[in-house]
Amino acid sequence: MIVDTHAHLNTDDFKDDLEVVLERSMNHGVTKIICIGMDESSNRLAIDIARKHEMVYATVGVHPGYVDTSTTDHLEKLFSEEKVVAIGECGLDYYWRKDNKALQEKVFKEHIDLAVKTKLPLVIHTRDSFTEAYEMLLPYKGKVTGVFHCFSSDLLDAKKAVELGFYIGMDGPITFKKNDVLVELIQGIDLSRILVETDSPYMAPMPYRGKRNEPGYTKYVVEKIAEIKGLTFEEVSKITTKNAYDLFHLGGYKS
Ligand SMILES: [Zn+2]
Repeated sequence: MIVDTHAHLNTDDFKDDLEVVLERSMNHGVTKIICIGMDESSNRLAIDIARKHEMVYATVGVHPGYVDTSTTDHLEKLFSEEKVVAIGECGLDYYWRKDNKALQEKVFKEHIDLAVKTKLPLVIHTRDSFTEAYEMLLPYKGKVTGVFHCFSSDLLDAKKAVELGFYIGMDGPITFKKNDVLVELIQGIDLSRILVETDSPYMAPMPYRGKRNEPGYTKYVVEKIAEIKGLTFEEVSKITTKNAYDLFHLGGYKS
C-alpha cells in the first residue's frame, strides 16, 4: 500500500487513458493518489477526478508559474469540497521567473493565510527559493504544516523544513545517477518525515526517465529509499503511507 502524494492527473497527458493509468497504479500497490491543482481550471478538474475515483484526492492552489493568469479568489469556495485535502501547489519558483518575485511572494502569502484559517496542510513548490519560502513560513511555525514537495535542496535545508513541522517530498530524481545530495538527505532525515510522490506526468524515475510519469512509479521511489536506508520495501511503504494519511487526514489508516 503506497500513496502517491503528488500527481497531476489533471493534465492533458492523462486525458485519454486515466482509467488504465489508475488501474496500473493499483497493480503497482499505489492505493491512493493526491491530484494536485495549479490554477483555477486544473483545481476544478482535480476535484472532478477525485469525485469520480475513490482512490483520488484533490488539492487546490495557484502554482507560482500561474500567478500571472490565476488569482486565489476562487479557492475558498473549493475548500468545502469533501475530497480537497490540502492547499497548493503554491510557493516560489525563482528558477523559471525572477522578474515577478513580488507577485509570487504575495500569492504565496495568501496561501499561507488560507492554511492558517482552514488548518489545511500546504503543498509547497520551491526552486532556487527554499530560503525565501522558509523565511515566509517561519512566523507561522506551529500554525501551519505541509510538505516541501519534490525537495531539491540539501540536508541542511531539509532539517530546517522538518524543524518547521513540514514533511519532505521525494520523487524521481532520487533514482537518478547523480543524486549524492538527495542520498545524503535521505540518510539524514527520519523516515517519519518523508513522503513519496511522482509529480506525474513529470520527473519519471529510472527506468522511465524522460517518459511520461504515472502514479504506479512511486514504487521505484520507495524501492530507492529502502535501499538507501537499509530497510525493506514494506517498511518504507508502510511508514510513508502513514505519513501521508497523517498529513492529509485521509482517514481509515490501519497499521
Ligand atoms: Zn507539481
